[in-house]
Amino acid sequence: MNFDVIVIGKGPAGLSASLYTTRGNLKTLILGKQSALIKGKVIENYCCTDAKSGEELIETGIKQAKGFGAQVENEEVADVKQNEENFTVYTDKNVYQGRSVLIATGKNRIKVPIGNIDNFEGKGVHYCAACDGFFYTDAKVGVLGYKDYAIHELMELESITSKLTLYTNGNELEINEDSRKYLRDKEITINIEPIQSVEGQEFLEKVIFKNETEEAIEGLFIAYGSASSIDFARKLGITIENNSIKVDEQQRTNVPGIFAAGDCTGGFAQMSTAVGQGAIAGQQIKSYLQSKS
Ligand SMILES: Cc1cc2nc3c(=O)[nH]c(=O)nc-3n(C[C@H](O)[C@H](O)[C@H](O)COP(=O)(O)OP(=O)(O)OC[C@H]3O[C@@H](n4cnc5c(N)ncnc54)[C@H](O)[C@@H]3O)c2cc1C
Repeated sequence: MNFDVIVIGKGPAGLSASLYTTRGNLKTLILGKQSALIKGKVIENYCCTDAKSGEELIETGIKQAKGFGAQVENEEVADVKQNEENFTVYTDKNVYQGRSVLIATGKNRIKVPIGNIDNFEGKGVHYCAACDGFFYTDAKVGVLGYKDYAIHELMELESITSKLTLYTNGNELEINEDSRKYLRDKEITINIEPIQSVEGQEFLEKVIFKNETEEAIEGLFIAYGSASSIDFARKLGITIENNSIKVDEQQRTNVPGIFAAGDCTGGFAQMSTAVGQGAIAGQQIKSYLQSKS
């Protein structure tokens, strides 16, 4: 399925951008789950509309986007890959091709609830298999996660080592049939024990489980829960600043064809900011695609 624009995020930033891309006749796909705004019971500080619930505002935004021709899907993005000048977006249900991508995935996710993780960052603990996997040729490596995002990280590591374990930290797997088949076909070891901490001297050496058992390991790649904007950024070579995606005043990242808007770019986390940045991104995506055709 081919699109001019793939918007990752169904919040104010992504929905706002889609108004400009669809009205500019660009084939637009919006992917996402729940916006942070849904949690806002009454939104009073948004100009030019009476107080409404966050849910009502988002529903209206989705209706508007669909009205102008956007395809809106309730899907979670597990991976984004650049191929030549286009992008392949893998969700929990489908694979899409886009000529441009807007990352509008909201605030970045919270830290992984495992002791000592921070102490081993870059010393055995990593957040991007495509970036750091090559350090671990034939080593015993784990991926921490339980969604399709974690399975994509395993796929990335597969050519580097066959000694792979998926650690779910007590979570049930939430993966699609393709991912289940992959785990079966590749006979990936799955360890579901909740993890207490990671340990080692200078570098990571083992995982300690809550049941007081332990397992030796050389590398652990974190892909816990849903992929965040920072995870996409790391894989695509997008510059990150203060744990947010760095954009210029036109919402462009340093990677041509990839734009970002809203809370994932840092700054004033409000609906009005997200809508404004989304509008600029939508306009700029139009100019970018026009300049290429
Ligand atoms: C409780 C609460 C109350 C708030 N009240 C107000 C208020 O009164 N006024 C105000 O102006 N602001 C308020 N905010 C802030 C406001 O909600 C945010 O600033 C705004 O929603 C940011 O918009 P966004 O589009 O950048 O991100 P979000 O609205 O967070 O949307 C992010 C989108 O990205 C999607 N996404 C994330 N990861 C993936 C993935 N891997 N694959 C696919 N989709 C993904 C999410 O499902 C979601 O659709 C409130 C926030 C909270 C939490």
